[in-house]
Amino acid sequence: MIDSGLALSRRQFLSRAMGVGAAVAVSRGRALAEASGQPPVDFHVHLDNSTIDAVLPLSRERGVKFGIVEHAGTRENVYPVVLSNDAELRAYIAMLEGKPVFKGVQAEYDDWPGCFSREALAGLDYILTDAMTMPGPDGKRQKLWEKGAHIGEAQSFMDRYVDWHVHLLDTCPIDIFANITWLPQELMADYDALWTPARMRKVIGACVARGAAVEISAKLKLPRMPFLEMAKAAGAKFTLGSNGRYPEMGKIEHSIATAKQLGLGEADMFRPVPGSKAVERWGR
Ligand SMILES: [Zn+2]
Repeated sequence: MIDSGLALSRRQFLSRAMGVGAAVAVSRGRALAEASGQPPVDFHVHLDNSTIDAVLPLSRERGVKFGIVEHAGTRENVYPVVLSNDAELRAYIAMLEGKPVFKGVQAEYDDWPGCFSREALAGLDYILTDAMTMPGPDGKRQKLWEKGAHIGEAQSFMDRYVDWHVHLLDTCPIDIFANITWLPQELMADYDALWTPARMRKVIGACVARGAAVEISAKLKLPRMPFLEMAKAAGAKFTLGSNGRYPEMGKIEHSIATAKQLGLGEADMFRPVPGSKAVERWGR
């Protein structure tokens, strides 16, 4: 089980799933941890505006284990911190050593594997990525969510975007695909029409073939149910993620409620397993 939801009455579950204030959130977190034996994990926690020691109390209060992700890749990716070589990656891993968290990175674009040795990457518990930085028509990387990003005609954007997901999965060792099915704001109203079954099948097929888990994003409330149902039927693994900066990490009620609605059990959830991480499978 991924949470204690099944042990709750429907009314309790709904009130919990919808979020009813900080005090209840604290007791909810504890209940989740106690009932399942394993706490739920928020695999998408950023330390950008904080420190590991500042966020750990939130993990305890919310009864949610954290997976910390720092951005990683070439310096062309602009973030407060971008780990760009083995020395920086190893220092980051050492900073998290001994803390009760999973150690991850959010890898950017498609050229990050060239920044690191496989040995250094294997010091991580997992690698998370998303498709939100993609080449524009001029071939240069662009953050699709930024003002001025070239999106163009919707159908051709979608085809390029789907192909970009597949390209990332085919060319980079990825454990978790985050923010999956996110669309630029101007396309969001047409989400259901643009994510056709054929497009969903292509992305899900690549995730399953490469063993990349599908993130259920609490922040974006994505993917929507048709994608999740197709992914479950295809045998995908799932993770829960807040994409939270302090103090928003661990707020994964939406992800937990969605996982429950989907009927996911512990066996459907991604857990980092030494020896079968994407970077260890890579190239075999
Ligand atoms: Zn992120």
